Amino acid sequence: MKLSQILKQNAPSLSFEVFPPKTTTSFESVKHAVEAIAELHPSFMSVTYGAGGGTSEYTLEIAQNIAKEHGVPTLAHLTCVSSTKDTVHKMISAIKDAGIDNVMALRGDIPENMKDRDRSGWCYRHATDLIREIKESGADLCIGGACYPEIHPESANQRDDIKYLKEKVDAGCEFLTTQMFFDNNLLYNFLYKIREAGITVPVIPGIMPITNANQVERAIKLSGSFMPQRFKSLVDKFGSSPDAMKQAGIAYATDQIIDLYANGITNVHVYSMNKPDVAQSIQSNLSAIIGRS
Ligand code: FAD
Repeated sequence: MKLSQILKQNAPSLSFEVFPPKTTTSFESVKHAVEAIAELHPSFMSVTYGAGGGTSEYTLEIAQNIAKEHGVPTLAHLTCVSSTKDTVHKMISAIKDAGIDNVMALRGDIPENMKDRDRSGWCYRHATDLIREIKESGADLCIGGACYPEIHPESANQRDDIKYLKEKVDAGCEFLTTQMFFDNNLLYNFLYKIREAGITVPVIPGIMPITNANQVERAIKLSGSFMPQRFKSLVDKFGSSPDAMKQAGIAYATDQIIDLYANGITNVHVYSMNKPDVAQSIQSNLSAIIGRS
């Protein structure tokens, strides 16, 4: 099922993100975790694409399993930064052949060893190039893209970031999922600005439940997200106790999600990091709101 259809629904709903295994040995444990999350029957599940495409076949295998065995609508991520046109076309066909109707078209992070290279010969310099390629291929896929309420780390300013985001949407992107954020006001300001810029597609907020103190540093490094004082106090107080931190992190994420629903957002995407217990706890906390326990 296409996400463009799902996102038309007005009732509050949750979706979850999982990532593929990095090695064959961890495949089975990841598959079990993903299946446990699929059994929660979220509105959809997304499967990330390993940086540089190294684990691309696992992305598809996991995504196919979610769609076919569990009947959960699936979104397969695809990055393009180090890809040839041939690789991209093979991936587009493989996604369709796997019975998946949705693709998250991403540029991907530029690998360290490519950062100083001349980019003029690259097939894909931006996600927009990939979106155009998918559209031109004629594949019947619903295409999503990434957006950054706190601007992308490479962007000089938010005005340029939003200008390029508009190009991405005009190229054929039907919905946007946000980078994680810990202060909902940043999202509301961003939504106001992009709507003013004429971007009207659905925006799915991405919420990352921080369930251990080590995750905090990694999350900030990855996303550059602002940490509100309320969140910092929680990590200072509970960070040294794994169980307490997990409970507090889930409560913080739940609180963020309830505020988003209360302010008119319908679908919220949870970066559930292959942790069924975290996904289950958040879903239970919201059971009366989303009508699922
Ligand atoms: P783009 O949209 O191309 O933007 C990258 C930068 O280029 C931005 O600064 C933008 O403003 C600028 N830009 C865009 N167009 C132009 C233009 N025409 N001229 C000049 N500048 C321009 N990474 C993975 O490896 N695998 C994943 O599965 C994955 N999933 C993600 C899911 C979400 C929801 C998010 C938010 C990120 C995800 N990432 C993933 C990380 C993502 O790959 C990185 O953030 C990457 O650096 C940018 O990808 P993008 O698609 O947003 O790039």
